[in-house]
Amino acid sequence: MNTKYTIAYEYHNSLYLNITNRCPNLCVFCIKNKWNMDYRGYNLKLLKEPSVEDIKVDVEKNFLNKKYDEIVFCGYGEPTMRWDTAKEFIMAVRSGSVKSVPPKIRIRINTNGLGNLINKRDITLEMKGLVDALHISLNTRSREQWVKLMQPFNDYRDNGFDSVIDFIKRAKGSVKEVIVTAVELEEVDIKAVENLANSLGVGFRRRPLLDYEEA
Ligand code: SF4
Repeated sequence: MNTKYTIAYEYHNSLYLNITNRCPNLCVFCIKNKWNMDYRGYNLKLLKEPSVEDIKVDVEKNFLNKKYDEIVFCGYGEPTMRWDTAKEFIMAVRSGSVKSVPPKIRIRINTNGLGNLINKRDITLEMKGLVDALHISLNTRSREQWVKLMQPFNDYRDNGFDSVIDFIKRAKGSVKEVIVTAVELEEVDIKAVENLANSLGVGFRRRPLLDYEEA
């Protein structure tokens, strides 16, 4: 494994951004600890959380060598823990001030859906015109099972699931592509999550075991 830590890393033809290792969940399927913070040779253990400038420099460096289809906030941590930083960076992209990056590039956030609870405000409203896609790891239609699977910290246990559902509904008003995801765990009722996604009027995607790390 690389000893230098990684902010921007490549997967397929996307550039992924690892901007925090913090997360209010400890999902049973999260592989960040099992994989010792390594992701296919990239060391995602941040020694410090990157500033907007750090992110810009790393993204510019990567885009100088290659044209990516999209930028994805993902990594080993919950991106909305640092929504203000992510937003500032995305605004810089949209304004054309991140060198070599097309201002209209597709931008996706992979999230656990707790962003409104984390930030204590409706951050989906701030995503309009900035974020193209939100992929929300839900995995269940049951409040009780959500707690079992996601193992949230105490502050998120009681109203976490309801907050994620509310986040999904609100996101539809600001973000074009909203997709609920479910991992292929034995105890996960994939069809039930798909039905819930349909009833919420959003897309659905099942995630194979090998994609666990992309929550
Ligand atoms: S899978 Fe995602 S939401 Fe779950 S603990 Fe890991 S980083 Fe957090």
